[in-house]
Amino acid sequence: MPTTTPALSVSAAGERFAPINLERRDLRDNDIRIDIQWAGICHSDIHTIREEWGTANFPLVTGHEIAGVVSAVGSGVTRHKVGDRVGVGCLVDSCGECEQCKNGFEQFCERGSVGTYNSKGYDDEITQGGYAQQVVVSERFVCHIPDGIDLDVAAPLLCAGITTYSPLKRWGARPGANVAVVGMGGLGHLGVKIAAALGADVTVLSRTTAKSADAKEFGAADHLATSDPQVFKDNAGRFDLILNTVSADLPMEDYLRLLKPNGALVSVGLPNEPYVIAPGKLIGGNKVVAGSMIGGIPETQEMLDFCAEHGIGATVERIDASQVDDAYDKVVAGDVRYRYVIDTSTIKP
Ligand code: NAP
Ligand code: ZN
Repeated sequence: MPTTTPALSVSAAGERFAPINLERRDLRDNDIRIDIQWAGICHSDIHTIREEWGTANFPLVTGHEIAGVVSAVGSGVTRHKVGDRVGVGCLVDSCGECEQCKNGFEQFCERGSVGTYNSKGYDDEITQGGYAQQVVVSERFVCHIPDGIDLDVAAPLLCAGITTYSPLKRWGARPGANVAVVGMGGLGHLGVKIAAALGADVTVLSRTTAKSADAKEFGAADHLATSDPQVFKDNAGRFDLILNTVSADLPMEDYLRLLKPNGALVSVGLPNEPYVIAPGKLIGGNKVVAGSMIGGIPETQEMLDFCAEHGIGATVERIDASQVDDAYDKVVAGDVRYRYVIDTSTIKP
């Protein structure tokens, strides 16, 4: 018999969250049941529910920054046991056999990876996410949360943490590198903490100076307000790497000007409009424009271990189930310091 769990669901685009009893599947041999304690609110949840990325599958439970404790395991589970502190991010299934899966890039599975919510699973069911008290996930997609990180500040690492850690490592955030992080929201603030821990010299590019003091506290050496056009002149050719975490369209050519020759501008923010970039802006300076999508499971575990070692967790605002709709509006308005996490014990159908 499938079990039910209290969850927050939206019935149609534009509707508010309502508590429901959500069905979770019976444990398969390799499944783990997790008692969720905290679920982060990612801007991707908002893009999805508001159908800014196209039609969503309603009714829908969002949430892919999940932290909790293992409460049951299937007969074939070897990686985790009851009582373990664990997390689940944006992925819950992939074929496990293709080149991408074997290389630890499950997000690019050739059969198609299965997202934690709003995704059609291999059993044809639409997946339902982490704004709930329990979730059932194949053990391959469950990461261990080291003891050094509390579960509330660990939850956002499962998406925002890995989405910034992966490109920072790949594109050379290291001692001696000048790294700019554009947008200091949920992703951006973790990008700052992680880039600083990797030893890079970090500058935050925010719209205003409102978050300056926080940026310094997170490890940034400098903070610039992009509302001042002079910033783009004064800092031309300054950075080896720019990590763009902004959820809205940006004038990309202005940011490319800030790169040194051979520098890279890597976007993880996912607005809808195309980039407008004249080829000459790339060719003059061997510049790279790249994208990056979350990270695979081995690298997600590596990131969690790295964050524990460096004392990094998200800076969070804890909310209860009744505050989620309001929190969505606040995230869109930039009024969050720096990630909302939902106390899932407050979900009462
Ligand atoms: P967030 O908390 O809302 O942060 C976005 C930040 O961007 C804001 O804090 C703000 O920073 C800046 N910003 C917002 N509107 C802006 C505008 N109109 N112009 C310039 N700057 C603006 O969002 P998030 O959860 O970090 O997510 C950021 C983006 O990454 C979203 O599009 C999300 O879907 C995407 N994402 C991608 C992946 C991936 O795998 N690539 C994974 C997760 C999320 P300041 O206040 O500092 O200016
Ligand atoms: Zn996310």
